[in-house]
Amino acid sequence: MMKERESLGLVLKTNDYQENAALISLLTPKGKLNLIVRGAKKINSKTRAFAMPLTLLQFEHTTNRELNTLTKCEVLDYYSTIKENPQLMFVAYALLEKINLIPSVEQDDALFFQFVVDTLNLLKNTKYPETLLAIFELKLLYLLGVNPRFNQCPICNKPVKDGCFSVEAAGVVCSMDAMTTITDLSTNHTKMMKYLYTIKLDKIDEAFLALVSPFIEEINDVIDRYYMRYLDFTSKTKLISQKMANLQEKIP
Ligand SMILES: [Zn+2]
Repeated sequence: MMKERESLGLVLKTNDYQENAALISLLTPKGKLNLIVRGAKKINSKTRAFAMPLTLLQFEHTTNRELNTLTKCEVLDYYSTIKENPQLMFVAYALLEKINLIPSVEQDDALFFQFVVDTLNLLKNTKYPETLLAIFELKLLYLLGVNPRFNQCPICNKPVKDGCFSVEAAGVVCSMDAMTTITDLSTNHTKMMKYLYTIKLDKIDEAFLALVSPFIEEINDVIDRYYMRYLDFTSKTKLISQKMANLQEKIP
């Protein structure tokens, strides 16, 4: 007998699968899940909408095979306001790209799913998407177990208040050790970065994002280098966007 279970899922990516079908990768409260969506590649098919990246689904699926099939399904959120805005879409793709590369976070799967959904909800109505991306990326470092140390100097282990962030030292270095360590941010930028890392998602509003956004370019650069240094990760989405920006500068 075929058993079915109902679940929530965010479509992360879609690949062609056999004739007219798609293979979707979902993030769910129980981790990642791949499912076949029958008919998704047919032009007028009802199931076409279920195979679009960045779509929140409520669904059921078969459970009798290694690779199961989506059965009942309803779209809970198309994230239209994000998809209609290229700047928001860029940030959404950068988020999905990071989620795609990350293995299941196991015991934290439900927490992580909620974290992603909450971040996307904030992204819908913000003027500061880059700042939101920085918050997501910093908090993700904690879930990945490579979180930087903000409260204790990674070199002397003493509590640190007004230190400077160092990618190499993986945290905030005290003023004494900053003299002999390569640091990457000023004390003010470091303070802002710590705010981004520690703020609870339900405390984030436009006023907070506006306060931090003047610092965000340098902070984002440091986050990218941190990901490269400790996770060997380079964002393709960001590389493409940098190339486009360079190209636009060259066009008179
Ligand atoms: Zn120190």
